[in-house]
Amino acid sequence: MNVFSKFGLKQVVNASGKMTALGASAVHPEVARAVSEAAQDYVEIDELLVAAGREIAKATGAEDGCPTTGAAAGIAIATAAVIAGTNLSLIERLPRPAGVPDEIVLQKGHSVHFGASVTQMIALGGGNPVEVGHANHTEKAHLTEAVNDRTAALLFIQSHHAVQKGVQSLEAMKEIAAAKGIPLIVDAAAEEDMRKYIALGADLVCYSGGKALEGPTSGFICGRKDLIEACRAQYKGIGRAMKVGKEGVVGLLTALARYGAKEETGGEQKARMERFLQLLEGVPGVKGGISQDESGRDIYRAKLEIDPATAGMDAKQLIKRLQSGDPAIYTRNHYSNVGIIFIDPRPLLPNQEQLIADRIRDIISKGSSI
Ligand SMILES: *Cc1c(COP(=O)(O)O)cnc(C)c1O
Repeated sequence: MNVFSKFGLKQVVNASGKMTALGASAVHPEVARAVSEAAQDYVEIDELLVAAGREIAKATGAEDGCPTTGAAAGIAIATAAVIAGTNLSLIERLPRPAGVPDEIVLQKGHSVHFGASVTQMIALGGGNPVEVGHANHTEKAHLTEAVNDRTAALLFIQSHHAVQKGVQSLEAMKEIAAAKGIPLIVDAAAEEDMRKYIALGADLVCYSGGKALEGPTSGFICGRKDLIEACRAQYKGIGRAMKVGKEGVVGLLTALARYGAKEETGGEQKARMERFLQLLEGVPGVKGGISQDESGRDIYRAKLEIDPATAGMDAKQLIKRLQSGDPAIYTRNHYSNVGIIFIDPRPLLPNQEQLIADRIRDIISKGSSI
């Protein structure tokens, strides 16, 4: 039983990673306490936003920061900020054309869908997205030629969702933005490095609070002082529809202060996954191993190779059974087409590896007949 059960919802065991569809992150008890205390008290909200800016600045190396409901809201608010600044009449006119430069230039390979589309978030902030180049090929000229007196900013998407080859680098876009005297916005929603893009010269950077930070549903924009002031000002306009509450802000700041105080080292993850594999010993058709993250990060997952002839089902059938039970178990399935399932220890709550091992043993012993 958990808090969701009383609404008739299944418990979820998350062995897949940070998935918005599964509720992104389960926050640390210290973060949960802060959220709870903030929710039960009052504060001067304008002052809270300014204080949050100071904390975000400390954590990112930026001049200032502005809390948001998420990185998607960050894109919309950053867009509105570069278009309307702190001019109240313009702020209140958005997202309709405000009669001032409103084009946001991005590379076609960056026009991604993260669960919703980046260009829609630009439009929500009153921006007119201008995609340049081709899906897998953008030259510097495509960008420089697209910038004109209607351009409000350049936008760079730093994400595994984006095309990685044949596109212009963040450094190249910074050069263009600087030469043309326009701001460069970076969407770094899921990135772990909270300082890198500011250090590379981005004027505004959007992060998600529920991804790498493992905070509550929230986010922030960090960057240049005048532009962040303009971001905060949007809460009198389109930002009101994306209001971040006091509990969200305090949860975000607590997660930000904790960030880096890593709970579990790679070695600990490895040991935990080795114990998990022992629990699976003797299950027919399941061969276990430990696998480091492809990008070389200090993350270790259990890798299960499913042999359909012996297991009586293939990896995809096993995944389906795991997800349809109660608790619903979600594994990491990028390689299920070649018979491999990964178990990610990071989102697992204590002792859930036992529950997963028991369920796999049970499903395979019952075979494909059920
Ligand atoms: C997840 C994501 C977003 C949206 O972040 P939220 O915090 O869920 O609003 C935006 N851009 C990219 C690249 C993402 O991966």
